[in-house]
Amino acid sequence: MFQRDVAAAYLQQSGLKVCVLEKRHVIGGAAVTEEIVPGFKFSRASYLLSLLRPQIYKDLELKKYGLKIFLRDPSAYTPLLNPGGLNQKTVSLTLGRDADQNRKQIAQFSTNDAEKFEEYEHQLARIVAALEPLIDNPPLHLHTINKGGFGNLVKSWPSLKTLGSSVKLLGKDKTAFYDLLTAPASKVLDKWFESEPLKACLATDAVIGAMTSPYLPGSGYVLLHHVMGEIEGVKGAWGYVQGGMGAVSQAIANCATDRGAEIFTDKPVQKILVQDGNAKGVKLSNGVEVMAKAVLSNATPKVTYIDLLPKGSLQDDLVSEIKQIDYTSPVTKINVAVKELPNFTANPNRLKNTPMPHHQCTIHLNCEKTESIHEAYLDAQQGIPSHRPIIEMTIPSTLDSTLAPAGCHVISLGTMQQKTNMQTQFLMILKKYAPGFKASIVGVDILTPPDLEKTFGLTGGNIFHGAMGLDQLYTVTLYLYIPIIAYFSYLCLIPTSTNRRRQLPRLSPPLLVSNLHLSPQLFV
Ligand SMILES: Cc1cc2nc3c(=O)[nH]c(=O)nc-3n(C[C@H](O)[C@H](O)[C@H](O)COP(=O)(O)OP(=O)(O)OC[C@H]3O[C@@H](n4cnc5c(N)ncnc54)[C@H](O)[C@@H]3O)c2cc1C
Repeated sequence: MFQRDVAAAYLQQSGLKVCVLEKRHVIGGAAVTEEIVPGFKFSRASYLLSLLRPQIYKDLELKKYGLKIFLRDPSAYTPLLNPGGLNQKTVSLTLGRDADQNRKQIAQFSTNDAEKFEEYEHQLARIVAALEPLIDNPPLHLHTINKGGFGNLVKSWPSLKTLGSSVKLLGKDKTAFYDLLTAPASKVLDKWFESEPLKACLATDAVIGAMTSPYLPGSGYVLLHHVMGEIEGVKGAWGYVQGGMGAVSQAIANCATDRGAEIFTDKPVQKILVQDGNAKGVKLSNGVEVMAKAVLSNATPKVTYIDLLPKGSLQDDLVSEIKQIDYTSPVTKINVAVKELPNFTANPNRLKNTPMPHHQCTIHLNCEKTESIHEAYLDAQQGIPSHRPIIEMTIPSTLDSTLAPAGCHVISLGTMQQKTNMQTQFLMILKKYAPGFKASIVGVDILTPPDLEKTFGLTGGNIFHGAMGLDQLYTVTLYLYIPIIAYFSYLCLIPTSTNRRRQLPRLSPPLLVSNLHLSPQLFV
């Protein structure tokens, strides 16, 4: 919904008449706020904002439409079960935006690492800055270039130019970028640092949302992906949205409807209507047909091309390629309503139920060593309950009082598990780090990958609409989908002519110059 409303707002402004159809009772897709436990509002799936492109933020005037963000700073907290560090008394590692504080925190474990950390961050920031043009512009369409001919080269020229300028901007960081793209994150981090839990803390970014280990090639890219964002001008920052992630979707929807787009909930699309090789509209599950000259989908490629398009609409080899897309995901999201703030043994609460800086961080549990992340991956990959699952915890209500009744909190837990006796397991882990947690629980909502698929239509429960392997990014699968690009250009456009195989699926206004013909029955 998020991307779809972004597209709706832009297209409506460009003069088109746009109708958005959502199958759920609520807008937002995976960026949604839901009151699962009475009085407690959860960012039920997605929970932190960063990757929304600044240009969209600005173009859609999201501030004006009610978007308010709380920056997450400090950003990462790793409590240790047993004191360690150079003096064997250190209890935790906290990182944030303050370079001096970071140096002090890291120096508890390694003075070398403390000195190198700032440069590591600067290098990542330079690489991200060099890649930004690639994110904000249409990717190179290799198929067009492969066809040869001067015309195709001219067509590809803007993308080639962007690619060229990114390569130039990378300058002396080209080797580091190549490493990030191809090497295991652990190798990249080992080049910089010697100490745990620093490496483990940084490596968590290399596995979030992905069925991978920091020890596997390609995980470096996942790490890079998670530092590519920006919030209110602060590069690489992540933030909590006031009112939960559904408030971002709502602000975007407000903008789109203000511009004239129409958004309908409880309208599952059953089928995309195709006539003479052209998408002509959609049929809803209630039988209503909505005719249009262009159909856009932000459902996954599998849902869009395999489930919704009538059989035979696409060439067999294309269908078979779509079926090969990897949607493997280990992500389970657990939402917990509590009547008391967790009290971590490592850094006990100074005042009962009063948030301390580490409460607003992403809290990494069972992540004291990179090896632990790898072990959690091995279990998840085999589909067995992890004997020591890693947990990423956030408590947005420490900054946003609108989410829970006074004194109470909403907690997000992300873990790498496919299925298991999860509730017992995560409670055991939390008990070790924050005794008393179990007694504070008011309600729990557990979403395993199959639950995420059932609830949000995410194939395989994959949070990125497709595994984030290098084989599924940027130009490689351009004609299908581009998970790297958090922009409306990665929506799947159903080609207006399906026999034009591998048509560029980005939202290119000239392809969409059309008026949607809304069926009046839709409104009854
Ligand atoms: C557990 C989880 C945690 C995440 N955490 C973060 C995070 O912290 N930060 C972040 O930036 N991103 C996060 N993400 C990813 C983020 O939520 C997605 O990138 C974002 O929601 C993508 O938006 P979208 O519009 O492309 O797709 P979706 O959000 O998947 O929206 C697709 C929409 O299409 C609807 N739909 C599907 N089929 C039909 C049909 N037949 N008819 C009508 N409607 C249909 C669905 O109901 C849904 O509303 C997370 C995702 C998950 C699942």
